[in-house]
Amino acid sequence: MLVNLDTKKIWFITGSQHLYGEETLKQVKEHSAEIVKGFNNSGKVVVEILDKGLATTTAEVTKLLSDANNDPQCIGVVAWMHTFSPAKMWINGLTQYKKPLCHLHTQFNAEIPWDSIDMDFMNLNQSAHGDREFGHMVTRLRIKRKVIAGHWKSEKVQEKLGVWSRVALGWDDWQGAKFARIGDNMREVAVTEGDKVEAQVRFGFSVNGYDSSDVVNEIKALEPTKVEALVKEYESSYNLMPSLLEGGEKRESLYEAARIELGLRAFLEKGGFKGYTDTFENLGELRQLPGIASQRLMADGYGFGAEGDWKTAALLRASKVMNIGLEKGTSFMEDYTYHFGAEKSYNLGSHMLEICPTIADDKPSCEIHPLGIGGKEDPVRLVFNGAKGPAINTTLVDMGNRFRMIVNEVEAVEPLADLPKLPVARVLQDPKPNLEISTEAWILAGGAHHTVYSQALTTEYMEDFAEMAGIELLVIDADTNIREFKDKLNSNEVYYHLFSNKL
Ligand code: MN
Repeated sequence: MLVNLDTKKIWFITGSQHLYGEETLKQVKEHSAEIVKGFNNSGKVVVEILDKGLATTTAEVTKLLSDANNDPQCIGVVAWMHTFSPAKMWINGLTQYKKPLCHLHTQFNAEIPWDSIDMDFMNLNQSAHGDREFGHMVTRLRIKRKVIAGHWKSEKVQEKLGVWSRVALGWDDWQGAKFARIGDNMREVAVTEGDKVEAQVRFGFSVNGYDSSDVVNEIKALEPTKVEALVKEYESSYNLMPSLLEGGEKRESLYEAARIELGLRAFLEKGGFKGYTDTFENLGELRQLPGIASQRLMADGYGFGAEGDWKTAALLRASKVMNIGLEKGTSFMEDYTYHFGAEKSYNLGSHMLEICPTIADDKPSCEIHPLGIGGKEDPVRLVFNGAKGPAINTTLVDMGNRFRMIVNEVEAVEPLADLPKLPVARVLQDPKPNLEISTEAWILAGGAHHTVYSQALTTEYMEDFAEMAGIELLVIDADTNIREFKDKLNSNEVYYHLFSNKL
């Protein structure tokens, strides 16, 4: 498991005050406990929600939010105002609070009991105005948060809280995370670079450089039995092409690929890294560009970015954490080549090698082919088509004065024909609203050619994530219109010039 879910908790805090007497507060407490139980039993929220009781005074609010900050298990707070909780009481706590915040705007009671409703009922069920008082203060303090409105038993509300809980887990995973940039950057490439110091300030993870010899040293120290065992695992997991089978002319390359995977794993485990980048220009003594190694490491939850792309490696790692327990997969991706059809156009996503098999539609085949660049030995890779269905492509770019996230909603479709000579994993995509508008908007926004491609996550995840990170989000979806998109780019320039921490 990527993250030990038992060690992560969400805190549920219910706001109130002492105006209504002890009997009302007792009921408020009971209702909160029942709501927490309802969410925990919904199967939608990925970690346990802890009922942290009532906050009825400035001192209680401040202590609870300060404790939430300092508890390493707490990944975020859900706040709900069952009754009216004067929001000046929340200022001290909220100004100190640093973790993700979700404002649940619900009411314990669902339908109005028309025959029996009286002032006692009105005094108890008043989140309609209590939550507005709280919301005013959070907005006035310019604190980004998710607001979820609706009855707590409804599946939609539970799902939204479920999304937020996964995103909070991904955000928590970034805090203190380490990413290894092996061999620095592909020479002269711009978009894979960026301000690593600012990334650490804003996102909480660090990126540092390593040499390919750090991996090669691990390869040299490998026990041959482990290599043998991994080759057997390749044989049982994938369809091997004949030259890679026992006695085949490229059999030794399969062993070398296994050695590279084991060496990389040992390097990542020893260094406590959650992801890495490599680049085909700086492989040193590595005999192959890591292909099957990177593909399988991604499948195990490591972040990966090719050609030194540390932002995509980090975003992929967070996405893998958000993806925990969901059916479909997430991969590193590149917009590779287009199909301009008479009726409709498509984007073929792929990479030189490194596409994660969690998005495969079938058992991958394990193949070896020349790479054509880099001057190394032919690398072993997994080849497959991506599964059909809705997906998103997400990129994180450094605009010089801020980070920007861009999401494009796409539909993965079956390739229009077989691809007998294409020796890499690929997924044919129908971007929304169509290829032309999608790519015009993407390019105007300065989006990278590398993305995190996910069939498990939706735009809502990335929206929550961008808010937790306090960064700009641009969405390209079925409603995107280029003129409006340009206006959005212009207005965001002004907004982020005024409010970005990095000026
Ligand atoms: Mn690339």
